[in-house]
Amino acid sequence: MTCSDPNKFVIWRDDQWQLKAGFEPNGLPFVAVLEPREHYRLDNLTPELLATLGPIIQRVAGAIRRIDGVGRTHFNRWGDGSEHFHIWFLARPLGQMQFRGAMIAAWDEILPKVPDEEFKANVHTVTAALLEGGGESVD
Ligand SMILES: [Zn+2]
Repeated sequence: MTCSDPNKFVIWRDDQWQLKAGFEPNGLPFVAVLEPREHYRLDNLTPELLATLGPIIQRVAGAIRRIDGVGRTHFNRWGDGSEHFHIWFLARPLGQMQFRGAMIAAWDEILPKVPDEEFKANVHTVTAALLEGGGESVD
C-alpha cells in the first residue's frame, strides 16, 4: 500500500485509520488492509495511534465477522512491503479449519475466486458494520 494514491481502495475511515478492501476478487471472502491515514511506520506510530490500534483491530475483525460464512478473521503484519504501517485482515471461510494459520494468505490465491457480486456484498457488509461505530464510508 503506497502513499502515491492514498484513497485508492479505501472503503471506510475515521480521523486516524482507514480500511482498504475490494482488491481483485480472490479465494477468501474478504481481505483488507488497515493503515493509519497519515504516513507512519511501526517504529514511529504516535501514542494516539498506538492507543487506538487495539480497539480498531477488534472493531475491524468484528465487522468482518458479520459476513455470512466467515469463521475467524486472521490479521497480520508482514512488514516486507510498503513502509506505511499496515495490517492485513484475512477472513477464513467458516468451518474450513485447514485454512488456519499462516497458510491462509496462500489459500487466497489457490481457492476458486469469490463471485463478483458476493465479493461486493461482503465489502458492503463490512463498511456498514464499521459505520455503526462512527467514521465515514468512502466510495
Ligand atoms: Zn505512507
